[in-house]
Amino acid sequence: MKVTDHIKQAKDTLISFEILPPLKGKGIQSLYQHLDPLMEFKPSFINVTYHRSEHMFKKNADGSFQKVVVRKRPGTESICASIMNHYSVDTVPHLICGGFSINETEDALINLNYLGIDNVLVLRGDAAKNETAFLPEPGGHRYASDLLKQVVDLNAGVYLEEDLKNTSQTKFCIGVAGYPEKHFEAPNMESDLQYLKNKIDLGADYIITQMFFDNEKYFAFVKACRDIGIQVPIIPGLKPIYTKKQLTMLPKVFHIDLPTALSKEIMKCETDADVEKVGTEWLLQQSRELKKAGVPVLHYYTLGRPQIVGEVVRQIL
Ligand code: FAD
Repeated sequence: MKVTDHIKQAKDTLISFEILPPLKGKGIQSLYQHLDPLMEFKPSFINVTYHRSEHMFKKNADGSFQKVVVRKRPGTESICASIMNHYSVDTVPHLICGGFSINETEDALINLNYLGIDNVLVLRGDAAKNETAFLPEPGGHRYASDLLKQVVDLNAGVYLEEDLKNTSQTKFCIGVAGYPEKHFEAPNMESDLQYLKNKIDLGADYIITQMFFDNEKYFAFVKACRDIGIQVPIIPGLKPIYTKKQLTMLPKVFHIDLPTALSKEIMKCETDADVEKVGTEWLLQQSRELKKAGVPVLHYYTLGRPQIVGEVVRQIL
């Protein structure tokens, strides 16, 4: 079922989770162990992130180095299918521009359609680890909006081979990313919002936000979106904090701010167990306020700490 149909049919705020594929070498059981404790909360859908290949240098026996291409977390599409089979829950594979030609993208979409997956989250992806700025694959897409157009085309039965006749139409529900604190490459909020509106005008059905720790930023973002005519659901993305290291890591990696009150509380903590208590309480208060404000879905980045998310969700349902 489509994410937007879940939202239309809901009488209250829904719950959804986001997970990473397991590291290569780990079995699907490791993923089920992560998800099992969360399934009692009946998530409406589960997102699975996409991780492109990385270039690395491997040391040879003679001391020289060899450049190798490594994909640490493969399997997004098949993991989505496995989760659907195992738990009977809808999944949302993330699909990125980086590393894909348009033909490979089309094949990936055809596979997802065959697997019975109704949703995709369409993204550009970040720069590859060895590059300073995002570079599209030769024959690939530069922006999420270009990839979005390809999905919209396929939903209309338009494939890359123009002479295909009587084609079947896919029916993907399409999500896109939004940034309450601005995407880090955008010169200003106004241009970032205009490009976001462009994605909606091209056919995106809903927005999921980058994580934020200050609800006021989300509320201001929603208002700014509505002011320029974006009417689709805007799903808040939420993440627990549980280590002191995250105080500097999260702003560095995700280009977001941590509120002064939260960072002061974390600085006072002696151990990461103390940080976890502060972070759990913060996430709980954020979730309560957002639910009270009537957000369509609370979307949790569960990553390494499903039990914190479980503890919070138990208290707000
Ligand atoms: P875009 O919408 O293409 O925007 C990128 C930048 O270009 C922005 O600054 C925008 O303002 C600007 N822009 C957009 N269109 C144009 C245009 N036509 N001309 C000029 N400028 C333009 N990354 C992964 O690799 N895998 C994942 O699974 C993943 N999941 C994510 C999930 C969520 C909810 C979020 C918020 C992010 C996720 N990311 C993921 C990270 C994402 O790929 C990066 O943030 C990336 O840098 C931007 O992606 P985007 O889809 O927002 O890009």
